Amino acid sequence: MSSSQQAVLTGAVRGKIQWDAPLSAWTTYRIGGPADALVTLLDAVDLQAALAFCRRERVAWKVLGRGSNVLAPDEGFRGVVMILGDGFKKIRVNRKLDSHRVAVHAGAAVGMTRLANWCRSEGLAGFEFAAGIPGSVGGGTVVNAGAWGRSMADVIDAIEITDELKREIVRAKNLTFRYRKCDCSELEKNASVIIEVVLNLSPGDPQRIGVTMRDLQALRRDRQPQGLPCAGSVFKNPIGASAGKLIDDAGLKGMRVGDAQVSETHANFIVNCGTASARDVQSLIAEIQRRVLNDSGIALEPEIEIL
Ligand SMILES: Cc1cc2nc3c(=O)[nH]c(=O)nc-3n(C[C@H](O)[C@H](O)[C@H](O)COP(=O)(O)OP(=O)(O)OC[C@H]3O[C@@H](n4cnc5c(N)ncnc54)[C@H](O)[C@@H]3O)c2cc1C
Repeated sequence: MSSSQQAVLTGAVRGKIQWDAPLSAWTTYRIGGPADALVTLLDAVDLQAALAFCRRERVAWKVLGRGSNVLAPDEGFRGVVMILGDGFKKIRVNRKLDSHRVAVHAGAAVGMTRLANWCRSEGLAGFEFAAGIPGSVGGGTVVNAGAWGRSMADVIDAIEITDELKREIVRAKNLTFRYRKCDCSELEKNASVIIEVVLNLSPGDPQRIGVTMRDLQALRRDRQPQGLPCAGSVFKNPIGASAGKLIDDAGLKGMRVGDAQVSETHANFIVNCGTASARDVQSLIAEIQRRVLNDSGIALEPEIEIL
């Protein structure tokens, strides 16, 4: 980005701008080179100003939630990475829908686990599955995050999106949810950002909700690697099969490229054992795909997004 563009961006947004900001600090893999600019936006007006800047100046942009489903390149990102700040972290409830349905409005930057805990304390059932998913509600919606047989598709009533000019509510019936993907034409054109998600939940007993959440989180701790940076499941489960089992059956647990390693605990996780680069992770992904294809005839498709 040129210095005159830096000056224009500085004048356009109110949020904090970091220049040459390492994306490793913003992704759960702890991998990624510098973004030209990383902007933490205060609210929807600030976000619109940043989007308008990128459109006018023809600068590439990317919004990041918690960076828990992405692999950022070692070369970084030439353009503006947008982070949704405090104005996108509010949760409010509308209990007036009817006696069986409650609408919960969550800002896109609210953490999935924080929202699950909030729903429990408010006695709202249906979002227990999200406890332990380390993403944001906005990112979780884009990838239709899910676990234990449920996903965002089961609870979303509507999303609010914005481009540089106008905010718009998109009802669930106009969204198509697939396995780890939400199809929304505005988002697909990379012209809009989700700023709020409305969930449709039902009243429930906080104690029972709490027990379910604790049980699911205990399962997570048992089955998934703990303490090493990762981005969750690397590959989608092929229809009727488990990616983790296919990788395990091919004898790949523990396989390493540099500091990137197929987890010994869960073969569908690649962990960063220290100083793994994006290139290490990508090479390991390619090698897993090659060997699983040889072993089982099944082509694995990445679930994580390689920026
Ligand atoms: C330990 C671990 C366990 C995990 N377990 C699960 C699991 O059980 N189930 C599961 O589904 N996933 C799981 N994941 C993956 C990940 O946490 C989820 O996919 C999560 O919902 C992604 O949210 P995020 O905020 O991190 O999105 P990011 O990774 O930051 O972004 C994902 C995509 O969404 C886009 N995006 C983000 N926010 C917005 C927005 N506001 N508007 C428009 N686009 C946006 C980004 O540009 C990117 O394309 C796990 C990850 C880890 C590290």
